[in-house]
Amino acid sequence: MPYLIALDEGTTSARAVLYNERGERLAMESSPIESAYPHPGWVEQDPLQIWLAQMETVRGVLDQAAVSASSLTGIGITNQRETTIVWDRATGIPVAPAIVWQCRRTAGWCQQVAATHGPRITQVTGLVVDAYFSGSKIRWILDHVPGARDKARNGDLLFGTVDTWLIWKLTNGAVHATDISNASRTMLMNLASGEWDDEMLALFEIPKAMLPKIGPSSAIIGASDAGTFGAEVPIAGIAGDQQAALFGQACFRPGLSKNTYGTGCFGLMHTGGHVPVSRNKLLATAAAQITAPQYAVEGSVFIAGAAVQWLRDKMRLISTAAESEQVAESVTDTAGVFLVPAFVGLGAPHWDSDARGLITGITGGTTSAHIVRAALESIAYQTRELIEAMEADSGETLAELRVDGGATANNFLMQFQADILGKRIVRPADIETTALGAAYLAGLATGVWKSLEEVESFWRMDEAFAPRMPADHRERLWQGWKTAVRKCRG
Ligand code: ADP
Repeated sequence: MPYLIALDEGTTSARAVLYNERGERLAMESSPIESAYPHPGWVEQDPLQIWLAQMETVRGVLDQAAVSASSLTGIGITNQRETTIVWDRATGIPVAPAIVWQCRRTAGWCQQVAATHGPRITQVTGLVVDAYFSGSKIRWILDHVPGARDKARNGDLLFGTVDTWLIWKLTNGAVHATDISNASRTMLMNLASGEWDDEMLALFEIPKAMLPKIGPSSAIIGASDAGTFGAEVPIAGIAGDQQAALFGQACFRPGLSKNTYGTGCFGLMHTGGHVPVSRNKLLATAAAQITAPQYAVEGSVFIAGAAVQWLRDKMRLISTAAESEQVAESVTDTAGVFLVPAFVGLGAPHWDSDARGLITGITGGTTSAHIVRAALESIAYQTRELIEAMEADSGETLAELRVDGGATANNFLMQFQADILGKRIVRPADIETTALGAAYLAGLATGVWKSLEEVESFWRMDEAFAPRMPADHRERLWQGWKTAVRKCRG
């Protein structure tokens, strides 16, 4: 029986998930990853801890399912994107901590470069200039580790996002590679050619010799080392977490979209084989690639499930995140209250870092239940803003939205999302779509599955939420939200 293993290395935990030939999850293990915050706005992780935690979950999942490494058909890898690791080719030792995607240490430099080269960078890479992406983080390491730039120029230092680091460790240093979906988040890749871009490398002062080879997301690029992994297993799937989730949701065709409801929201819409150009401040990005390049537009909401955490931990209006559902349903509406959780500014499509949160429409009759409900509703309104921008950018009309992530457990939120979008919301049976996407990519490359249609047939719905709200009511609420957002702008 063919087994596939997905290594899902996220920001807060590493997971390993085992699947059978029908794409069914057999076992899952996870191990926490610690972040360090050495200065305000800085976020770091230990690359060796990432590797060790990931390997611990591999052993755990194989033990749990009583499957040996030698009976695995393929390995798929998916990872927190943009996080930057630089190590010494000869010793394998990182020269600095991993700079995590959330880290703001290069924000000042990015602001300067945006002022002079912003539109050009967006044109080449599809990205809005920001400290978030890997390019400025690599530059920071080369600027701050003595001798690093010279060593990098000689090919003695290697750069990788987390996928590349895990592949290099898994192959005992034999393979230095990434896939196009991860490379498209470095701000160094030309989105149209799928190759490292010399103009960007010169601008960021990054030597090409330190960069991994870019390949498709579904291909055998090497094998795990028997000494470290227990057997030589083909490494056959790689994708950044959000693109892996898009693939795991079987969104393979233009117009198919998913939204992930976690701490924040990540919405991606597949746009087909042409490089998208966003006119609505979304990111253009590479989707997971089997053969020909595929693209997506992406938008993120900074505060989604985090607003629920805030209700729980700071306002103490609920004792668990799950309780928010029952509390929201204890009232028929918010009685005119809107809560805009712009705690750290607003993401796409506003990109306003000076906006701050607010609650509007408070009267003497406002209760905590109205506030809780308004916080949940804000997640749905922000998602509608993303979806409208995606539709405008792509020219595609969304038929339905596939959802995943922790907050999709909230049925009130899902129904309100359907109502405020006026579209069907579909929640799949397996909401671990990130790992599933990596397994699909590996299974396609190793011949476990022959076609996208076959993989698509595995996708199972848990529940669909159809819009029930009358159109005029939806429109009234939507205008109310837009007014509240205007008031919170910086
Ligand atoms: P992440 O991957 O970003 O850590 P998860 O997908 O694990 O996030 O989802 C966790 C987030 O979802 C938290 O912010 C939490 O507040 C929120 N959440 C979890 N369960 C619910 C629920 N039933 N209702 C609303 N929000 C929820």
